[in-house]
Amino acid sequence: MSAAGASEPSARNRPPARTVSDVVVIGSGLVGACCAYELTLAGLNVTIVDRGHLTSGTTASGEGNILISDKAPGAELELAKLSLTRWTELADELEADIEYEPKGGVVVATGEAEADGLRHFAAQQREVGVTAVEVSGDRLRELEPHLAPDLATGIHYPQDAQVQPVLAAAVLLQQARQRGATVVPEAEVTAIGVDRTGRVASVTTTRGSFATRWVVNAAGPWSGEISALAGLHLPLAPRRGHILVTEPCEPLIHHKVYDAGYVGTLTADAQPDAVEVSSVVESTRAGTILLGSSREFVGYDRRIDGEVVRAIAERATRLFPVLAGVRLMRAYVGFRPWLPDHLPAIGETLAVPGFVQASGHEGAGIGLSPATGRLVRDLITGHEPPIDPTPFRPDRPTLQNDAEVAHG
Ligand SMILES: Cc1cc2nc3c(=O)[nH]c(=O)nc-3n(C[C@H](O)[C@H](O)[C@H](O)COP(=O)(O)OP(=O)(O)OC[C@H]3O[C@@H](n4cnc5c(N)ncnc54)[C@H](O)[C@@H]3O)c2cc1C
Repeated sequence: MSAAGASEPSARNRPPARTVSDVVVIGSGLVGACCAYELTLAGLNVTIVDRGHLTSGTTASGEGNILISDKAPGAELELAKLSLTRWTELADELEADIEYEPKGGVVVATGEAEADGLRHFAAQQREVGVTAVEVSGDRLRELEPHLAPDLATGIHYPQDAQVQPVLAAAVLLQQARQRGATVVPEAEVTAIGVDRTGRVASVTTTRGSFATRWVVNAAGPWSGEISALAGLHLPLAPRRGHILVTEPCEPLIHHKVYDAGYVGTLTADAQPDAVEVSSVVESTRAGTILLGSSREFVGYDRRIDGEVVRAIAERATRLFPVLAGVRLMRAYVGFRPWLPDHLPAIGETLAVPGFVQASGHEGAGIGLSPATGRLVRDLITGHEPPIDPTPFRPDRPTLQNDAEVAHG
C-alpha cells in the first residue's frame, strides 16, 4: 500500500511478494550493504529497504578513505583495524573490482608545532600496533614528488587504503541478493511496529509492510528520524562536508595525503556556527583528484559555499603547489552522521529489543562499515564478536546526556 501522496510503483518496482524476513535493514548505503552482506553470509533472510535509489545517501558523497592514521588508541581504532582486515578479505572474496587500493597515507605538518603534535600522536598509535613511520621534511618528496618543499615533517601510514564506496556497496548488495536478500528501493520507512512484549515486529514502508524480528537502522544521517519511529532518541546530527573534484590528470598524487590539522577537526566539540576546514587529497582510478574537506552543522542545506570551496582549494594547493595548474571540475556536499561522543552507535537498544543501531560513523563510515556489519551479524546470530562491542552500545551514558547541535 502506498502512503498518501506517494506515486504508484511501476510494474518493475512492485513490492516483492515475500513480506516476512529475519532482518530488515533500513538504508542501502555502505553500512547497510555491509550488514546485509554479512547477515546473508550467516544464512539469514534479509530485506533491505531504502527510500531513494540504492546507495544514494552519504555513501555517494564521501571519499573512499579507509583510515587507520587518524584514529587515536581506543575503541574506534580497534573497529578500524577489524575493518581493515575485513576490507582486505572483501577485496578478494567479492570477486569484483571495488577499486580497493592499499596505497597508504601520509600526514604532513607545515610547521614545527604541528610536527610535535603529529609525532606524539604517532608514538601513541605505535604502542597499539599501528605502523607509523616518520619521514623528515627533506625526504617527503621521495614519497610524493609534488609535495611543497618546505613542509616540516610527515608520518607515513602504509596501512591506510582506499575504496570506491558506491561500487563497493553495489557489489555487496548484489551478492547479498544472490544469497536470497530482497532489495526494495523507493520504499520510505514510515512506521516501526512492536509486539505485545515491546519487541520489534514489523517495518512499514511506502511500498508495503515487512514482518520481522530484527531491524537494523543503517539510515546514516537520517538514523535519528528512524529511531524516533521506534520511540527512541538518538542524538544524531548531519555534519555537512564539501568535496572538490578536479579534471582528470596524469598521476600526480600516490598516497592519501592530509594535513595534521585534520585529526583536530574530527573530534572538535560541536560549534554550531563554525566551519572547520582541513586538507585531504587523494587521486582516483579515473584520474580525478578529490580535495576535501569541511565540517559544519547547517542541517541538510545542500548549497555549495564558495568561501569553503576557496578555503579547501587554498589548503590543498599549500600542500601540492602543482594543483594551482589543475582545473576544478565540480564540487558537492554530503552529510556525515555525527554523534556527540565521536563513536558510532552499533548494537541492540534495551528499550526496543530487536532494534539494532548501525549508525553515527561521522566521517569514517566507509572505512568502518565492514566491522560494523560483522558486529551486527554476531549480535543477531548470537556469536562472540572479534572485538569488544561495549563502547558502541546505543544506550551508553554519553548519548543520553548529549549536547545536541541545533539543526538548521
Ligand atoms: C564530504 C564527506 C567525505 C567523507 N569521506 C569519507 C572517507 O573518506 N572515508 C570514510 O570512511 N567516510 C567518509 N565519509 C563518511 C561516510 O560517507 C559516511 O559515514 C557513510 O557514507 C555513512 O554510510 P551509511 O550507509 O551509514 O549512510 P548513507 O550512505 O547515508 O545511507 C543511508 C540510507 O538510508 C536511506 N534512508 C534514510 N531515511 C530513510 C527512510 N525513512 N526510509 C528508508 N530509507 C531511508 C537513505 O536514502 C540512504 O540511502 C565522508 C562523508 C562526507 C560527507
